[in-house]
Amino acid sequence: MKIIVIFLLLLVTGCHKEVVDKKLMPNFVGQNVEVVETFGIDNSIEITKEEKYDKTPKGTVISQSVSEGSELTDIKIVVSKGLDYATLEVDELGDVPIMMYHGIHNVTNNKYTGGNVDYDGYQRTADAFRKDLEFYYANGYRMIRLTDYVDGIIDVEAGLSPIIITFDDGLANAIKVEGLDENGEIIIDPNSAVGILESFKKKYPDYNVTATFFVNGGLFRQPTYNEKILNWLVANGYDVGNHSYSHANFSDIDYEESVEEIGSLYNLLDKYIPGKYVNIIAMPYGSPYRKDHENFKALLKGSYDGKSYTTKTTLMVGWEAETSPFHVSFDNEILKRIRAYDNNGKEFDIEMNFRILKNNRYISDGDKNTITIPKERKNKLNNRRKLDVILY
Ligand SMILES: [Zn+2]
Repeated sequence: MKIIVIFLLLLVTGCHKEVVDKKLMPNFVGQNVEVVETFGIDNSIEITKEEKYDKTPKGTVISQSVSEGSELTDIKIVVSKGLDYATLEVDELGDVPIMMYHGIHNVTNNKYTGGNVDYDGYQRTADAFRKDLEFYYANGYRMIRLTDYVDGIIDVEAGLSPIIITFDDGLANAIKVEGLDENGEIIIDPNSAVGILESFKKKYPDYNVTATFFVNGGLFRQPTYNEKILNWLVANGYDVGNHSYSHANFSDIDYEESVEEIGSLYNLLDKYIPGKYVNIIAMPYGSPYRKDHENFKALLKGSYDGKSYTTKTTLMVGWEAETSPFHVSFDNEILKRIRAYDNNGKEFDIEMNFRILKNNRYISDGDKNTITIPKERKNKLNNRRKLDVILY
C-alpha cells in the first residue's frame, strides 16, 4: 500500500513538473495578428483566423478559443477588420422592421399569393415562414427583443441590422405541443412557429433567435399545456405580451371595458409567469388606431381587480418599418409593424418593405452603448438614453 502511494505521489509530482516546464498558451488578445502567426510557426501550432468588424485597430486579436495558461494546442483567433463606418454605411437612425405574423400552417398552399394561407396573408405556410427567416438572415438582419428595441438597447454586430418578430392571437400553431417527454418537458411540433424558430437557433447561432407572442385569454389554446408553454417560452428567450382578454376592438367598447380587457389579461399572465412577461400590447385590429382616442389611455395605465398596470408600448397592425428608437420621430407609445405576407412586391408586403429598407435601414456600429450616425443626420437624433454619440 505504502509503495503504491509513494509511486502515485511521484507520478503526480512528475506530471506537475512536466506542465511547468512546458510552454503554455499566451494571451493573444490585444496583440497584432502577425505576432500570433510567428508564435504559431515557432511552436508548431496551427492558427485559424476569423475576421470581424471591431473598434480595435485592424489586425488586432479580439478573442482566442483556447484560454491563456492552457497547454499549447491549435487555436482559433478572431481578428479585427477595423471599423470603417462609411464603408459599412453605419446609420443608427435608420428604420427597423417589426414583423407581424399570426398563424403558421404546415400546409402546401396553391390557392393564394406566395406563402399566404388566407386572402389577406395573415396566415402563412410553414415553408414560407422558413423562407422568410432565411431571407432576413441572408440580407444581414439579426433578431433583437421587442422590449430591448423600445428601451434603445440594440445589440447587433457591426454592419448588420436589427429585426423584430411578433405573433398575434396565441394560435395553437405558434407553439404546438405534441406531448411531454420523459422529463415532463413539452415536445414542440417542429412545423409550428416556435419549432421552426428553434431550428434556426441551431442553424444560425448568431441570428439571436427570439420573438414576442401576443396572447388572449385562451393563451395558446392548449389548456393542458398552457402553463408549461408560457414558462418554456420565457425560459428559452421568447417574450409574451398582451393582445387583450377577448380580442377586443378598442373602438367599439367603453373605457371601463377597455381597462378590463387589458388588466384581466395582465393578471392572467401574472398567475402563470409573474414578472416575466412584457408589458406591451398588440392592439387587436390595430384599433383604436390613434393616440388621442379616449380608450388609448386605458391601454397605457389602469387598475383591474385590485392590481394596477402600466404598459410600455402598443403595436399597430401596420404596413411599414418603424424608425430607430433614437430618431426624433420615434414615438415609444405606439409602433408600426410590417404585415409579413406576399403580394408580388406590392402593397407593403415583405418584398416591398425590404426593398425600401435597402436605402434607409438601421445599420449597427456593433456597440449597443454608442449611437453612430452620418454627421449630416445629427439633427434627427433624440439621445434619450444619453449614450455616447459618434458622428462621421
Ligand atoms: Zn389579433
